[in-house]
Parts: sequence; structure tokens; C-alpha cells
Amino acid sequence: MRLHNSLSRRVEDVVPVDGRTVKIYSCGPTVYRHIHIGNFRSFMLGDLIRRAAKFEGLDARLVMNITDVGHMTDEVTDSGRDKMELAESDEGLSAAQIAEKYTEAFLADGDLLNIGRADVYPRATEHIPQMISIIQTLIGNGHAYEVDGAVYYDVRSFPDYGKLSGNTLEALRAGHRQEVEVDPNKRNPEDFALWKKAGPGRALKWDSPWGPGFPGWHIECSAMSMEHLGKRFDVHTGGNDNKFPHHEDEIAQSEGAVGHAVVSIWVHGGFLQMGGQKMAKSAQNIRRVSDLAEHGLDPLAYRLLCFGTRYRNEIDFSWDALEAANHRLGTLRRRMAQWRPEQGAIDAPELTMVEEELDQRFRRTVAEDLDMPQAMVVVNELLGADLDPFRRYVLLKRWDEVLGLDLERTALEGFEIPPEVHELMRRRDEARLAKDYPTSDAIRDQLTSMGYEVMDSPEGTTVRPRT
Ligand SMILES: [Zn+2]
Repeated sequence: MRLHNSLSRRVEDVVPVDGRTVKIYSCGPTVYRHIHIGNFRSFMLGDLIRRAAKFEGLDARLVMNITDVGHMTDEVTDSGRDKMELAESDEGLSAAQIAEKYTEAFLADGDLLNIGRADVYPRATEHIPQMISIIQTLIGNGHAYEVDGAVYYDVRSFPDYGKLSGNTLEALRAGHRQEVEVDPNKRNPEDFALWKKAGPGRALKWDSPWGPGFPGWHIECSAMSMEHLGKRFDVHTGGNDNKFPHHEDEIAQSEGAVGHAVVSIWVHGGFLQMGGQKMAKSAQNIRRVSDLAEHGLDPLAYRLLCFGTRYRNEIDFSWDALEAANHRLGTLRRRMAQWRPEQGAIDAPELTMVEEELDQRFRRTVAEDLDMPQAMVVVNELLGADLDPFRRYVLLKRWDEVLGLDLERTALEGFEIPPEVHELMRRRDEARLAKDYPTSDAIRDQLTSMGYEVMDSPEGTTVRPRT
């Protein structure tokens, strides 16, 4: 299996450090409000890598953090207000209640997209001692300094700073010159806070060697990733917007503390652009994944839509494209229902050379930096190929372990027959009972022209959608 490493800017082999298990850390949500449907595109990435690794016969372990303190409203200058405290005053709930509420909603929305749950969801507020310990190490080895109850990372002490995002100190300095006010405690304007002093009235705070305060957002991921995956692990994911400053700072912290590289491959997902999109009236209030079902769209249609573009590229979202994906998903499921064998015929058949070749090609495209658009091309080929139905079913069922599109759902639930079709079936049965064969045949033709295959059973007329 290979993945594009944002650090080397190359596609590299995934080779588990421990020789067995691919260890993946995914930057999770800041749980101060509902996660927008567009953001779920990058939250899918960690689970997709885990699915692909397992498909390759590797073990995989996924850790996704929950940020429930310290993420400031202005991410680049690391200033403004703590998002959790902001929500606290807006909603009249405690920070813990807000975190609970939006974590639950995040997990429920993820379930609807078949994002497999992480093996662990560490909370930042439950890892304060680990963060303090790393900060103490960084002060001890000259990477950090304390001023008046706050601790800053000395960016100039880490010569590799900027290696991930490409932001050089010069570029940073230029950016920081536009800041309205530079924290006067910083030695250099580009330094960032590891620990912040608790101001008056702040509820979310902890005792520390530097007095009461709270952690910076970036130190949280250094502490939680190394706590749960060790000081060397394989894959770290996030959205493109996490590259700078979040991941750049995480590298400086983690490598500054342990003295060597911690993450083998950094994987970043492209945005899903929704801004400026002309939305259908009926769809205007879709903000969350759970809103999709209320508008008659299967949430997994969104998953299928995302597979149409390489994960690193941006998607320009459109409702038309989502509706087309929804239609396509229905077609795939109906085919699965038609190809599914009767009970009993469950032994996996031997594949022909053509089928074996399709299967290998599907696996190769998934393993090659998650090339899902190409994998869907192979799915299309399978649909169009003249193959034995049962073996098509077996292959698609196997591939769905990675796709996660619940392709067997229709087969298991039965497809829905619209009321007008039920009425035609009833009239055909009446006609047949009365031996009125011209009418019975006319209704059969009508059903056929509506896209159904018509069959006679002891219970009367039955139909199933034609492919
Ligand atoms: Zn993170």
C-alpha cells in the first residue's frame, strides 16, 4: 500500500514501524458546534486508510482525538478566544456539556457515512499531565521558554521548522507583521504558545508548574498521538488546512521533545468547496450529514460522491452531483439485489481469469494512494461486463469492505415498490384470474416499459427492477 506523504511530497510505501500494525492518528473535530458536511470529507480519510490497509491484509489501529479545549478562534496567530469557551457563553451550557453534545453528534453523523469508529477517541482535557510533561522536556532542552505563566515554543531553535508547509520564517514574519497586536511576551513574533495563562473568569483551566492555565491546541495532538501510538508511528491525517500551523507546530514539538521523526507519512485531504454554490431551494438547510436523509438523499451518496475525486484534490460540491450519486448508489444496490443468490448458494465460486484481473485491478488502485475514482471505474467495468451474476455479486460484496457503501442493503431490505406499480400488479392478477390475457399482457408490457422485470409466482405477479 502506498500513500502520498505531504512531507516528502512523494507517494511512499506504507511500512508499519512495528512490522505488523499500521498506526494511524487522525486530527479530530473541535467539539464546539456541529460538524459541517464538507468537513466530513477529511474525517473519512483515517478510516479509509484503515479499510485499505485491512483489505491488503495488514492490521491497522486508528486514533482520533477530540479537541475540547485550547483551539482559538484565530488559528494562524493562535489568538482570539477559546472556541469551547465561546460556545459556553453562547449556549449557556458548561464546556463539558458542550463537548459531550457535539461529540455525540459528530459520532452519529460519522456512522451515517459508514466512517468506522476509531479504536480510541482521546479527549484533550484528559491528557493535560502528558502535555505538561512534553512542555517541561521542551523547556529543559532549550526549545521552549516561560514568560509570566505562559510557555512559548522558540521556533528559531528548530531549524526544520517549515518543512511540512513550506512556510519559511521570512514568510511567517511577513504574515505576523500584519497582526494587530503581537504578544509582547514572545521572543520572536512567529513563536507559538504551548501553555497559556488563565485569564480572569476562565473556567477551563488546570494547575501547572507555571501556574493555572490551559494548553495550546497543537501540543494536544503531540501528547495524544504519542500517548496512544508511541514515539514512532505510521500515518498522520488531517485536512489541508491543518498543515499550517497545526501540523507544522506538532512536528516541532514532538520531534523537539523526542529528538527524532515521529510520523512516517503525513496525509492531507483536500477541501470540499461549498461556498458560492447555488443551492436548490429544497436543499438550502442541509448543513449536517443527518440532514441528507430528511431531503430524501442517502447519506452514503455523499460518500460515493467523494470517491469521484482523489482525496488530495478539491471538490466543487454541487447538489446535482450529489443527486446523481444518490441515483447511482440505488442502481448499484438494485444490481446487487438481482445478483444475490438464493439462500444456500453461498460458497464463494472460483473466479475466472477476467474476474481475477478485475479484482486485482480494484485492489491495486485502492492501494495506490487511495485512487478511488479509478476504483469506481473498475466497479463500472464489472457492471458492464458479461459475467456470471453470482460472481459479480461476490466481487462487489468483497470490494464494499473498502467502499463502505452498504451495497447489499437493497438485497437485504427488499427494494421499494411504488404504489402505482402495486396497483398495476393487482390489476394484472385480476385479469389473469379472469383469464383476460390481452389485458394481463398489456399490463406486463406497461410494467416492462417502466423498468421492471415481471415474473409469475404462486402468489401472483412479482416484479423487480430491471438493470
Ligand atoms: Zn491535531
